[in-house]
Amino acid sequence: MKKIGVLTSGGDAPGMNAVIRAVVRSGISAGLEVFGIFDGYEGLVNDKIRLLNKGDVSDIIIKGGTILGSARLEEFKLVEVREKAVENLARHGIEGLVVIGGDGSYRGALALTEMGINCIGIPGTIDNDIDSTDYTIGFDTALNTIIENVDKLRDTSSSHHRCSVIEVMGNRCGDLAIYAGITTGAEIIITKETGYDEEEVLDRLRYFEEKKQKRHSIVLVSEKITDVHLLARKISLHTGFSGRATILGHIQRGGSPTARDRILATQFGDKAVRALLNGEGGRCVGIVNEEIITIDITEALQLTKKSRKPLFELHDRLV
Ligand code: ADP
Repeated sequence: MKKIGVLTSGGDAPGMNAVIRAVVRSGISAGLEVFGIFDGYEGLVNDKIRLLNKGDVSDIIIKGGTILGSARLEEFKLVEVREKAVENLARHGIEGLVVIGGDGSYRGALALTEMGINCIGIPGTIDNDIDSTDYTIGFDTALNTIIENVDKLRDTSSSHHRCSVIEVMGNRCGDLAIYAGITTGAEIIITKETGYDEEEVLDRLRYFEEKKQKRHSIVLVSEKITDVHLLARKISLHTGFSGRATILGHIQRGGSPTARDRILATQFGDKAVRALLNGEGGRCVGIVNEEIITIDITEALQLTKKSRKPLFELHDRLV
């Protein structure tokens, strides 16, 4: 293998640039030519492909977002659309591809591998919703952004006897909420794993207020579970707290990556290049028990994340 490509796909995440840098520099050090593909699979199909040198990725390790741009292309599920991508890659002589993205991007990578282009997936998403890795690129940065914002909301809540109801991202995964809940000392954490019972939330808030004499409370809610504005109104009506809702939204996707994300990105990028040099395809990179691994994408997509029950129990004991 002499030429490889790298693309970012699906939702962006801080640390994607650090992965691109690692792939380019590790590839060039190993004697490869590395091509950047702009705008994900859309750029593959429309030939937005350019050779990158070491200088092209200077200074990007500190930047959020992705210099390659990201996109979604529903039609990539069609074999005739993917054939165009394969033709473009063949014209450039590119035989292997590193795909940075979530599980949708992994499916695209698998489909391309089946058409003769070896692809290695790298988990890049703030949601930590890829079950074949303990951590995804961007999760730690997003978590730190949440902590910073929740800490600020706590300051103002305590001055006004408020209950802040804060919605965080996570897609189908409650990790951002549970990790942020523990690290900010939130009173209540609501995720798919805990389930949502409005009466129980109101009861617990009344208990915190009346029995524990708390002056303020934080309720952290994973996205796609309930309407946080509605919950805040119910809190104002049925407890002694004044409920205020905040949706942190896309602020969680931005920012300079943390040290943890930069290191992980560097390790993942290098591992993916090595996997391609080994002739691997249809596999993805991850970190499991502090070890950087690769695993078949088919297998990765069937895994389910281990339960976070011990973390919830720990939180409940300390709140
Ligand atoms: P993420 O990678 O963050 O999960 P998406 O689910 O939107 O994001 O997937 C990103 C892109 O991956 C899609 O826009 C599409 O181009 C491609 N993709 C998703 N599923 C498939 C599939 N089954 N076959 C081929 N390509 C796919």
